Amino acid sequence: MIKFLDIQAMNEAHGTKIEEAILRVTRSGWYLRGEETRRFEADYAHYIGCRHAIGCGNGLDALRLIFRAYIEMGHLHEGDEVIVPANTYIASILAVTDNRLTPIFVEPDAQTLQIDETLIEQAITPRTRAILIVHLYGRCAYTSHIGDLCHKYNLLLIEDNAQAHGCSAPPTFPRKGDHPQSTSPQGEVVKRARTGSLGHAAGHSFYPGKNLGALGDAGCVTTDDDELATTIRALGNYGSSEKYIFHYTGYNSRIDELQAAVLAAKLPHLDADNHHRATIAELYYRGIDNPLIHLPRHVDPEHNVYHLFPIFCDERDHLQQHLKAYGIETLIHYPIPPHQQECYKEYAHLSLPITEQIHRTELSLPIGPTMSQTKVQEVIKAINDFKLKDYPRITK
Ligand SMILES: *Cc1c(COP(=O)(O)O)cnc(C)c1O
Repeated sequence: MIKFLDIQAMNEAHGTKIEEAILRVTRSGWYLRGEETRRFEADYAHYIGCRHAIGCGNGLDALRLIFRAYIEMGHLHEGDEVIVPANTYIASILAVTDNRLTPIFVEPDAQTLQIDETLIEQAITPRTRAILIVHLYGRCAYTSHIGDLCHKYNLLLIEDNAQAHGCSAPPTFPRKGDHPQSTSPQGEVVKRARTGSLGHAAGHSFYPGKNLGALGDAGCVTTDDDELATTIRALGNYGSSEKYIFHYTGYNSRIDELQAAVLAAKLPHLDADNHHRATIAELYYRGIDNPLIHLPRHVDPEHNVYHLFPIFCDERDHLQQHLKAYGIETLIHYPIPPHQQECYKEYAHLSLPITEQIHRTELSLPIGPTMSQTKVQEVIKAINDFKLKDYPRITK
């Protein structure tokens, strides 16, 4: 049996440090808004390369809080349009509509799976105020063209970084100097700007299965904007920044001390975990050789932290059944696009063929920081053995 993602093994690998963290919090008698949260926020802000990280309840809340804070600050108003990728997890869109903003769905590029930068400008209207990019599957969605458009039309750039902790933008990205740096093979120092530090604000999820996962729900916002950070902190605390004084009709969305302590214990291992994911991905790229299967465009592992490894097949459901017979667990990300969901009947009339094709043909292979190379080779072999003649003709 090859699990899609062995979360138990992932946490077991850091078991001692996690247990120490839990014990420390249990014994402290302090469970919210304390030392552990401050420490994780500082560590994560430093890691991402932002002035602020504000912990909150989950990834959806992180995005909701960003839009709501911009409304409170007067930068966004009800009915304003936000450009979004049509192929994303529904939470990205919920954050927009929950704030009575209007999502404008833009198709992805079928090779990169990211929002098609060449289609964005024609979607901009006088009501457009923001672009939400989603680093889906762990792939960096930022391009300098998107940055230029935000500049030209004075748009907010918001990132959904739920799937891409530790991913870096292409090195051309112009940034201030104080970021994590790495050394290139030629020995020169390369400035790395991580996803989550590229726009005005970013939402992060620490759902247990994400690249950096908690033992339950948790999330955070990163930003360099002091006013936005203060507003979000208040909004997540019932709308209060001073005890019993409420500036906004806020929410209760905070990160637990327990989750913050666990995340701080795991953060130092994130780069190594991502590196292991990239090694698996390279094996898949080299080994998968089946005319029925299409792989997304390969990018440098700096720009993809392989939260998921999506492959595409017209006979996706048969392929999934075939892999299951080999004991290989796979998942679909995602079977139904947001505009075709029951909750979004108002968008059901939209025709988004590339998005719909992605949702019809996508299958995610097992990948994770504890998966062995032997198991990867088993998956590759099973995929290369997939033939249509083994399956009855599909009637659509
Ligand atoms: C997981 C996820 C979210 C939501 O995060 P939660 O912590 O589960 O609320 C948002 N956007 C994307 C792309 C995600 O994958």
